[in-house]
Amino acid sequence: MTVYPAPGDDQPAENRRKFFSRLGCVNQVVGVQMVHGSKVATVGAGQRGQILSDYDALITDEPQVVLSLTVADCLPIYFYDQRRQAIALAHAGWRGVLANISREVVNKFIELYKTDPGDLEIHIGPHIHICHFEVKDDVANQFAAYPQFVSRSDKIFIDLAGVVREQLMAAGIKAGNIDISQECTHDEKDQYFSYRRDGGEFRVMAAYLGLKRRQPN
Ligand SMILES: [Zn+2]
Repeated sequence: MTVYPAPGDDQPAENRRKFFSRLGCVNQVVGVQMVHGSKVATVGAGQRGQILSDYDALITDEPQVVLSLTVADCLPIYFYDQRRQAIALAHAGWRGVLANISREVVNKFIELYKTDPGDLEIHIGPHIHICHFEVKDDVANQFAAYPQFVSRSDKIFIDLAGVVREQLMAAGIKAGNIDISQECTHDEKDQYFSYRRDGGEFRVMAAYLGLKRRQPN
């Protein structure tokens, strides 16, 4: 995961171009303008160079198509089906977690590629952890189905990644195939931007994932 200025900054397109140029895949990138929903866009070579609106996840089985989105506290969720050679990348804030975007992505793998959820490998990148994800009752009450991930004392905190892990396991993902970054974006100020910590000055990180080439069967 690497950093470039957020939309609204003067230079987002230029920084995006420079960053992916250095990686050697600038012409392969498909992006999204997130809307904190749960819609999954199926993409391929035809969408390279585009930034799609109204989606929070991208899925493909085409090599040399680089899925990309931005985060700054939200969870970047990477999906890989090695057997079917398919990948997906999702963005989940608390609304996306409540909408169970992970389940939507798993369903898409099954629909498009006949994926066995037991084959899926998941990585959740750096995000805001329970230590800093404080909410009020209005949000906490919406997590009534996940009481074990809501910590209530003087203040209320939620473990979003814990909820996602539970949702993924309910969708058939093996516990051993779910890897969750232990880094909190709010804590690691030298490493990551944080929307909660940096407020109006916040910038974002790019998450990206691509298949280099087709593997021989
Ligand atoms: Zn923290």
